[in-house]
Amino acid sequence: MSPLQSHSENGCLYVVGIGPGAPDTITRKAESVLIEADVVIGNDFYLNLIPHLLKDQEVIRSSMGKEVDRTEQAIHLAKKRKVAMISGGDPGVYGMAGIVLEMAERIAPDLPVEIIPGVTAASAGAAKLGAPLTNDFAVISLSDLLTPREVIEKRVRIVCSAGIPLVLYNPRSRTRTSLFEEVVQIALEHLPPETPVGIVKDAYREEEEVLVTILREVMDLEDRIDMHTVVFIGGEETRMIRRNNHERGVITPRGYHRKYVY
Ligand code: SAH
Repeated sequence: MSPLQSHSENGCLYVVGIGPGAPDTITRKAESVLIEADVVIGNDFYLNLIPHLLKDQEVIRSSMGKEVDRTEQAIHLAKKRKVAMISGGDPGVYGMAGIVLEMAERIAPDLPVEIIPGVTAASAGAAKLGAPLTNDFAVISLSDLLTPREVIEKRVRIVCSAGIPLVLYNPRSRTRTSLFEEVVQIALEHLPPETPVGIVKDAYREEEEVLVTILREVMDLEDRIDMHTVVFIGGEETRMIRRNNHERGVITPRGYHRKYVY
């Protein structure tokens, strides 16, 4: 049965995670939902990552930052048609899934809404670095548009004092630079200056860049960090490893060494 068949009579809304970027990092489920949709809605940046999947569908390009308007439009269109709203990575991780479900509950409670997962930046970036997240870890967005800065700082302090790896989404924009520096300062209060830091920019896209450094020196690479970058601050057990004989990578051992000899 096609993934859209069950809702095809009255229209439905899919929130589709397209993964980090490269055509082969999207799931087959996401691909088939997009191909069978009547309407695909998203912002230019993400639509431009999936040109090969856009054929007969109506494509609605909306601008970044207009998420509420875009959601309202998608819900409206989905009353009669199969609408796929795209989100980078996974739609449930700082993506469109939440706002869509909140608004649908209020203005279209009968509308079938399905969330299609995708590979999030934390998984994509971790794979590029090695295995920095194999045990407990936390994810924090440094975007202060929807979360107050003091709350973000408080959360960073708690995670760094817990000694677990921290993944930073939305680390630094052209206009918001000081919060990243502040976060590095907070991390240095709790973690050794040699703690490994991984920086992955545009994972699985043409411009991909992977850098490994240490906490004390991360500000030297500040200008390489932007809104297409995900930053990994190691925890108390994180260390560097040598990969493929020469590259530097990052690993947080799961703890097998405490139980087994290998
Ligand atoms: N829903 C997305 C995250 C949206 S927030 C996901 O699950 O990945 C946007 C932030 O995600 C960016 O500022 C960046 O920090 C991170 N990001 C998304 N895709 C990325 C990629 N391919 N490489 C590096 N970082 C990425």
